[in-house]
Amino acid sequence: MSDMRYREIAVSAIERQEQIGSGQFGAVYKGLWHTSGMESNPFKANKPLLVAIKTLHDSSTIELKLTFLQEAAIMGQFSHPNVLRLLGIVSLTEPFMIVTELMHIELLKFVVVLRKSTLQRSQMYSLYLKLSREIASGMTYLSSKNFIHRDLAARNVLLAKDLTCRISDFGLSRQLRDEGDYYTSKGGKIPLKWTAPEAIFYQRYSEKSDVWSFGMTLYEIWSLGEKPWPGYSNEDVLQAYANSDVMDRPTGCPEGIFSVMLECWQINAEIRPSFQEISSMLATSDESFC
Ligand code: ATP
Repeated sequence: MSDMRYREIAVSAIERQEQIGSGQFGAVYKGLWHTSGMESNPFKANKPLLVAIKTLHDSSTIELKLTFLQEAAIMGQFSHPNVLRLLGIVSLTEPFMIVTELMHIELLKFVVVLRKSTLQRSQMYSLYLKLSREIASGMTYLSSKNFIHRDLAARNVLLAKDLTCRISDFGLSRQLRDEGDYYTSKGGKIPLKWTAPEAIFYQRYSEKSDVWSFGMTLYEIWSLGEKPWPGYSNEDVLQAYANSDVMDRPTGCPEGIFSVMLECWQINAEIRPSFQEISSMLATSDESFC
């Protein structure tokens, strides 16, 4: 793979601290990367960097080890303010580690917390719009790199301390999950309620299937963390797709934003807008939405 922007990190430079999460293949820790001893230190400050350290269980199979490093290789090609940045990997010693910038909170948790916010309605809308635009911007970038995410959802967008969105989760375990929001289809385990019909039925993934999932992510933001298709079983959702049904507008969601969701949920993938077009739609002034 060309154009790698990350490096192998010596395990001695990594100081693992408390666990902050847990993925399919291992724990995620907060920690420090001591960069001062590096031969060519790209970081101006000589202070250690606060990082997130994703680890892989020692007992993982060779296939899982390769998948883990493949996620790093994918992330390492990207450089965009709304895409989670890979800093480096530890792959010469075990456990393997993926070291990324440390994020503050998952978008899904953040919007749920916002339910209790005392911000004014117009301030809330400006914030949701900013989050929506940033995800569209990150996805415009990823699709320009011909990358299909396949699992875009509010749980896979992380927020930095300054509340900038970063798209994350580049495919580590997409086909291996078997619970929660993931559902078994002929193509593997998929997050059914976020997945476009053509991807569910024919495993046809494209920028436009990510656009469908973007519509679901908008729904999660503007409903303050409601899961798509509330009250529907997986079978009900499949029936809804067969009937070309769509979800209702979340309470309080402006018509303008709901119309973007409806564009994303057109059954014919070809006529869904591209992420570039969605970014333009969302760039319209706040007043026209709120
Ligand atoms: P997968 O196992 O498919 O990669 P996942 O989301 O289940 O996806 P991880 O990506 O390993 O698992 O992340 C697990 C949790 O760790 C996340 O839900 C998040 O809360 C936390 N996390 C992951 N990366 C970071 C980060 N860079 N900064 C802060 N927290 C993170």
